Amino acid sequence: MANGKDASFMRSLCMGHIEEDMVVPFPERSPEERETLKGVVASLGDLLGPHEKDFCDWDRKAEMPASYIKELKEFGLFGLIIPEEHGGLGFGSAAYSRTLQEVARFDASTAVTIGAHSSIGMRGLLLFGTDAQKTQFLPRLASGEMIAAFCLTEPGSGSDAASIRTTATRDGDDWIIDGNKLWITNGGIADFFTVFAKTDNVETRGHMTAFIVTRDMAGVSVGPHEDKMGLRASSTTTVHFEKVRVPDSYRLGEVGKGFKVAMKILNSGRTGLGGGAVGAMKHLISLSAKQANERTQFGKRIREFGLIKHKVGHMVVDCYAAEATVHMVAALADQGYEDYAVEAAISKVFSSEVLWRCADEALQTAGGNGYMTEYPYERIVRDSRINRIFEGTNDILRLFIALTAMDDVGRSLKELSKSLQGVFEDPIKGFGVLSEYALRRASLATGIRKSMFAKLDPRLRQHAAVFEEATKDLAIAVDRVLRKHGRNIIGKQLASKRLADAMIDMFVLACTLSRVNSSIAASGEEKARPEIQILDVLSDDVRRRVRQNFDLVDRNEDDSLKAVADHAFDLERFAWDTI
Ligand SMILES: Cc1cc2nc3c(=O)[nH]c(=O)nc-3n(C[C@H](O)[C@H](O)[C@H](O)COP(=O)(O)OP(=O)(O)OC[C@H]3O[C@@H](n4cnc5c(N)ncnc54)[C@H](O)[C@@H]3O)c2cc1C
Repeated sequence: MANGKDASFMRSLCMGHIEEDMVVPFPERSPEERETLKGVVASLGDLLGPHEKDFCDWDRKAEMPASYIKELKEFGLFGLIIPEEHGGLGFGSAAYSRTLQEVARFDASTAVTIGAHSSIGMRGLLLFGTDAQKTQFLPRLASGEMIAAFCLTEPGSGSDAASIRTTATRDGDDWIIDGNKLWITNGGIADFFTVFAKTDNVETRGHMTAFIVTRDMAGVSVGPHEDKMGLRASSTTTVHFEKVRVPDSYRLGEVGKGFKVAMKILNSGRTGLGGGAVGAMKHLISLSAKQANERTQFGKRIREFGLIKHKVGHMVVDCYAAEATVHMVAALADQGYEDYAVEAAISKVFSSEVLWRCADEALQTAGGNGYMTEYPYERIVRDSRINRIFEGTNDILRLFIALTAMDDVGRSLKELSKSLQGVFEDPIKGFGVLSEYALRRASLATGIRKSMFAKLDPRLRQHAAVFEEATKDLAIAVDRVLRKHGRNIIGKQLASKRLADAMIDMFVLACTLSRVNSSIAASGEEKARPEIQILDVLSDDVRRRVRQNFDLVDRNEDDSLKAVADHAFDLERFAWDTI
């Protein structure tokens, strides 16, 4: 088991071990950060509140006026995560995520404009930039004089990022970049591009490298504003690089290590998207609660109806759990944990999916009004949908979550089989590995030495027990799946998805347990009652879903379902009719 800052909560969990110290107590903000954020939240209300009608108008017209972007710059919104010595506000992940939350309560297009700049556009410079690069660009990025964009996707390369065809060819001290990027957020307003290009063989999917490219370089051009379903005011364009000469001093990270650079940027930027999702959910909850209080049908306010309570109750549970998860991941990053990529991916998948459900239920609660453009619901539904697609689709992230979290178990199984191979040459060594492994399995199966949530308030024991039981079941399920499929697990997407779904539920439950635990400690059981009730609902949902996912790993109708899909692919239509 890893110790210290290289520990990973989810990897350990797959081995049947709860790294309780990583998540308990729930991370608290420092008093200074709280004060700063209170000020930021109040000022953002003053800045964005008066634009409420404009946001609606700009969405319809698909534009964001330069005068408004200037207001965002003057507020400092482009310098949130840039260190103070370079002119920024120096926010950590948790403060950044909370700020984006507040922006997203008002307008998703604005949140994405700021988010694409900080979460992905210029993050590579912060993570991998040289001192000279930072000194040259960070002050201009902090003031918004330069807005940043992240250029990875291409017409032929989306989820399969390693298949990009943009090239960077060495020419003396420079590189010549050639290629086309697609759907680049901020493309139309950016002056600073983090660009990924192949510096190795394109045909063999060779290595890529990351570069800084600026708008003023000869050969850089952008396409028109894309007409989109949602986030219509935010700039999305193609970006073209035609024989663009870029000095080697503009390279980000090592030659050939661009894929790692891209993944690290995306991982460490995820709490921005998560924060935005939570902000939108908070806004939706306010809208729905108001609607439920004001609308009368059958002689009663609709808040009296069980089905309306069910919707709004779940919106609140989901929002509380998403905020706990996003904040936990941001805090892990701020505390210096290095291996939080799985947890970050979980926070993105969960927050984007509960936002989607929340937006749909809020629209349903509003009835026909929800469908009218005069009301905000349909815009929020349109704006929310993209979160499940960009910065890694949730499908790809599910595979990433399962395969990455299970990696340690895979390794230990491999070591086990290696030791068994050599068991006759070195029986003592073989026996050592075997007995350690056998002990772990036996303890999981019998419950002896079951890993515990020991620090939680005893009043949460019943919920902690749900988590502990699921941990044991997860370790057994992962072990079984890896023994059965070995390396072929990569091709068993449905098994991976079910394990990922269980892992997502479990991490979200761990974060929520911790949050409620800290609330009880801070304000007592009585005051924390609504939060305990939130946990009651979540823990029961998680218990049922996790069990079902583990059952489905082995017993399912996947083969029939895949055959049905193949039938449709072959015909390219639905085959039946009743006439
Ligand atoms: C509004 C908007 C803004 C964007 N902003 C940016 C940006 O700033 N910078 C940038 O670089 N990109 C950006 N993108 C691109 C975005 O990141 C990609 O759309 C996304 O990565 C998915 O790629 P794709 O659209 O090519 O889908 P594809 O990769 O073609 O996927 C299609 C479907 O197949 C699934 N799929 C693909 N491979 C697998 C697999 N191996 N197993 C199972 N399922 C699979 C996917 O999950 C998806 O459901 C943006 C996109 C949009 C729409």
